Amino acid sequence: MPPKPKLDPMHAESPQWQHVDDRLKSEIAARKPKPAERQRAAAIADLLEEEFPKAFCALHFSNSFELLAATILSAQCTDERVNMTTPELFRRFPTPRHLMESEPGAIEEVIRSTGFFNAKAKSLREASRTLVEDFGGKMPVAIEDLTRFRGSGRKTANVVRMHAYGLPGLSVDTHFTRITQRLGLTKATDPEKIEFEIAALLPPERWTLFADGVILHGRKTCQARAPKCEACRLAPLCPRIGVEVKSPAKRKSS
Ligand code: SF4
Repeated sequence: MPPKPKLDPMHAESPQWQHVDDRLKSEIAARKPKPAERQRAAAIADLLEEEFPKAFCALHFSNSFELLAATILSAQCTDERVNMTTPELFRRFPTPRHLMESEPGAIEEVIRSTGFFNAKAKSLREASRTLVEDFGGKMPVAIEDLTRFRGSGRKTANVVRMHAYGLPGLSVDTHFTRITQRLGLTKATDPEKIEFEIAALLPPERWTLFADGVILHGRKTCQARAPKCEACRLAPLCPRIGVEVKSPAKRKSS
């Protein structure tokens, strides 16, 4: 059996380390970011915390199951649209059992405007069944359990852990992917790899605020098509700034 990789003391000494799942611990331990890379990530996290000191999940929820359901609905849909949909969804189906036992088409009718409603309704029904039948109706906390729900991968599981339970996590969505790539924090394209790489750069107690700040920064400034680099607080640390701001051709076409 190969020797276990030595854990990064910065992370292992973190008070939040005990809440990190075993897979992520092992992925962090296998990565060896340089001190300069960690310092740069910390400087970016500082700027984001200054800009968004109270960053939090934009989805509305009153318990962990509602957040799981809202996150499933948020795929390819805005948080605003989901927030317009979930009050009626939870009024008609107040518990996972109600969702699980709903008539065919009943969930679909309520969530139609969120897009991909057939697949999302199936996920909500199956996730409710898993919760009732496998977990006795009590929402689990471990990421391995949260990823057992249909429609819930590590991103969704992290959202629930971060915002319903206050545990450290990095929820990797399209904003997070685009911005961490632009900032040169990762070259990975796979969301799980991105999560692992960023997790190795920052200690767990910074993850949640960092993830929420990155997502807000993506909505406000570093938008997909036309990032507002001239107004960006992260510009001094962004390797893309030379390409995006100084290129006249880019400016004309944006
Ligand atoms: S400088 Fe531009 S590309 Fe870099 S993070 Fe800011 S908005 Fe995004």
